[in-house]
Amino acid sequence: MATDPLPQSCRLCHAPLLTGESSRRLCSVCDEYAQHVALQTNRQLERVVGDLQNGALFVAASRNAH
Ligand SMILES: [Zn+2]
Repeated sequence: MATDPLPQSCRLCHAPLLTGESSRRLCSVCDEYAQHVALQTNRQLERVVGDLQNGALFVAASRNAH
């Protein structure tokens, strides 16, 4: 895991990232959703993203936001 062979893309939906969206490697849609979940669950954003990557919450995210 030393290098990422893929170009910059959203960690959750794998959409190509535009300039300025890559600070957390989340697209604007997923970033907004992850922040929303983090606020609602009072958890750190990176923890929320981890759960989303595991698929626990991303099904709902993809259907609602994408
Ligand atoms: Zn995304």
